Amino acid sequence: MRAVRIDGPGRVAVVDVPEPAPGDGEVLVAVRAAAVCATDRRMAAMGTHAPRIPGHEIAGTLEDGTPVGVHPNLGCGRCASCALGLENRCPDHVDIGIQRDGGLAQVVAVPRAHVVALEGFPIETAPLVEPLATVLHAAKLLEVLEGDPAVVVGAGSLGICAMWALKAMGARVIVMQRSPARRGIAAEMGADGVLGPEGDPAGILGARPRLALVAAPGAEALAWALERVEVGGRVHAFAGTPGGALVDANLVHYRHLGLVGSTGSTVEDYRRGLELARSGAVPLPPAAVRPVPLGDVPGVLLDPAPDPGVLKVIAAV
Ligand SMILES: [Zn+2]
Ligand SMILES: [Zn+2]
Repeated sequence: MRAVRIDGPGRVAVVDVPEPAPGDGEVLVAVRAAAVCATDRRMAAMGTHAPRIPGHEIAGTLEDGTPVGVHPNLGCGRCASCALGLENRCPDHVDIGIQRDGGLAQVVAVPRAHVVALEGFPIETAPLVEPLATVLHAAKLLEVLEGDPAVVVGAGSLGICAMWALKAMGARVIVMQRSPARRGIAAEMGADGVLGPEGDPAGILGARPRLALVAAPGAEALAWALERVEVGGRVHAFAGTPGGALVDANLVHYRHLGLVGSTGSTVEDYRRGLELARSGAVPLPPAAVRPVPLGDVPGVLLDPAPDPGVLKVIAAV
């Protein structure tokens, strides 16, 4: 089969490899659509886990033709987190497309419990259910109340999904984003307001935000949120930062803040994401999706200056 493979730092190509052999309790999914994510770009740049077929935002069909989406975060099934159904929190988690081969390929092997029938939801858009599930998981940790004023920092694809997730949970959501082009996308996608780093969220929301979800990397983005939420507010650190991002503990201490974090999602979050997308409560897909053939993916992964007007690249396999 054809697959995108990362062989080392900056070394990515489409190669011919044998189809994966499904393990115990696993099924083969014939991939139809797989989205490219910032995680895949980082893996390609750094050669993480090479040689590796990336791709964790996947939709395809089972051998009997059933269209399915893939939930990629696999737990060990034996630890305390897994017992709570929090496979994304498992210390020994294995993520499809990261610690094992993923879906930027014609076929991917997936544990049966992690394929979810799409039941009429379009397969071309279904890869976006995975990032939506991760922000639904994050938004749950923020404990959203109806009408809560909230701000999302960063208007990348996860920031936009986070904005939708928080709105679906009843919050009023504005988006802070440095680049005017991305601010425009956030406004188009339904944000209740947009602002740059110098803007005043309270001026738009009528009050300081109680909640913030930081989907932009770096210490500055996190500090911006910690300084601007109301006293007693909650902040989710959603973005990974190469080299780390230090936090001023005084802000958390003197402002009585809740600082939480999470990565990935549970299969329940994935099902919920699919339901919200299917019902239209979350308006996937964003207009700014660019479909590409699998052969273009190495170039997309290594592109040093991705077009800020494109939120998501989805490979048609
Ligand atoms: Zn992703
Ligand atoms: Zn576990």
